[in-house]
Amino acid sequence: MCGNCCRWSGYVRLTNSEIDKISEFLNLTIDDFINNHTRITADRSGLSLNEHSDGSCIFLVKNIDNIEICLINDVKPQQCKNFPHFWQFDNWENECAGGRLIKKKN
Ligand code: SF4
Repeated sequence: MCGNCCRWSGYVRLTNSEIDKISEFLNLTIDDFINNHTRITADRSGLSLNEHSDGSCIFLVKNIDNIEICLINDVKPQQCKNFPHFWQFDNWENECAGGRLIKKKN
């Protein structure tokens, strides 16, 4: 919920069905979505969402209350949903508000 994982540089890998759903959600053709919002991964095994030069996800945006939200939250990739339970990055407990809560409980 804090969006810190969305600021972390790295691939947000997309499945074919996620590409279909996100394209439809954004009212884009699949080609437009792929060409403008994704990049091929270094191992050439698939596509990842683009990121800004600071590493943050292109879909992390500020709403009218100046709060950062995921623009595609309703159809965000499974990889995003899986953080932090199925994957983490180094030092994630200190970067993630949820991680700090988990740490406090233990
Ligand atoms: S798609 Fe949404 S949840 Fe996933 S990294 Fe981008 S902003 Fe974060």
